[in-house]
Amino acid sequence: MIGSLYLIPSPIGNLKEVSPRVLETISICDFLACEDTRNTNKLLNLLNIKKKTISCHEHNEIEASINIVNEILSGKTVGYLSDAGYPCISDPGYNLVKECLKYDIKIVPLSGPNAFLNALVGSGIDPSKFLFYGFLKSKQSERIKELEQLKEVGNTIVFYEAPHRIYDTLNDLFNVFGNRNICIARELTKIHEEFIRISLEEILESKREIIGEIVLIVEGNFSDEETISLEQIKDKLKLLIENKMTPKDAILAVSLLFNINKNIVKKIYYSI
Ligand code: SAM
Repeated sequence: MIGSLYLIPSPIGNLKEVSPRVLETISICDFLACEDTRNTNKLLNLLNIKKKTISCHEHNEIEASINIVNEILSGKTVGYLSDAGYPCISDPGYNLVKECLKYDIKIVPLSGPNAFLNALVGSGIDPSKFLFYGFLKSKQSERIKELEQLKEVGNTIVFYEAPHRIYDTLNDLFNVFGNRNICIARELTKIHEEFIRISLEEILESKREIIGEIVLIVEGNFSDEETISLEQIKDKLKLLIENKMTPKDAILAVSLLFNINKNIVKKIYYSI
């Protein structure tokens, strides 16, 4: 009989979040595949568990997955752990899952710690519909492009971010999104856990120090009017006037089209 692959979440800070089911599962696994064997071995030592570990990380995941699948097909039960939280969530594991599914291997994900869910539910920002984005690109020009694509999203957006980049990201968010409510959830499940519920403008003004591990929750775009840029309005006015519409009719048409007050559109027309 073929074995199974268990996806085992590991603590994001607080060791007490290792559940009895995680302990039981580790005990029945023939071996554990891990993002970093050193980190998983540290965790196993703290839990007083001895288990064989092999590595399966970002850079060897495809080859390692083939070997792990062969072991499972020969009847072994394997657990996969990333360094913290859920495997596959901004962490390796997805290639291994795909490889297992090619052979109908049973995937058993265990429930457990995950940074963004704690941040989201504690943020005070609407958690009913959200987009988990994970890490933005570190290069500013690429990050801005990503944010441009996200600025119309009407649901809460969840980012992971490193502390040394947080202010660059907050600045770019403010420049692209405008002012929004955010929550910076730091050091979750640890002694210095903190939820900073604030607006982008306020946090940028405060320049307060933000250290530790961070999840950044950003309110969605609620305003239809805000999503229409000045350039879009000007372009539409120009287009209509080029196509022989009188300025008066063009202003009325644009005001109806974008549902914006006629006097505002008129002002924009005179600024072209
Ligand atoms: N797989 C993990 C999960 O399920 O949450 C995420 C791994 S990702 C490589 C690491 C990022 O998760 C960190 O840079 C940080 O943004 C976030 N993170 C992890 N632990 C955290 C904690 N205790 N508090 C706040 N954010 C945390």
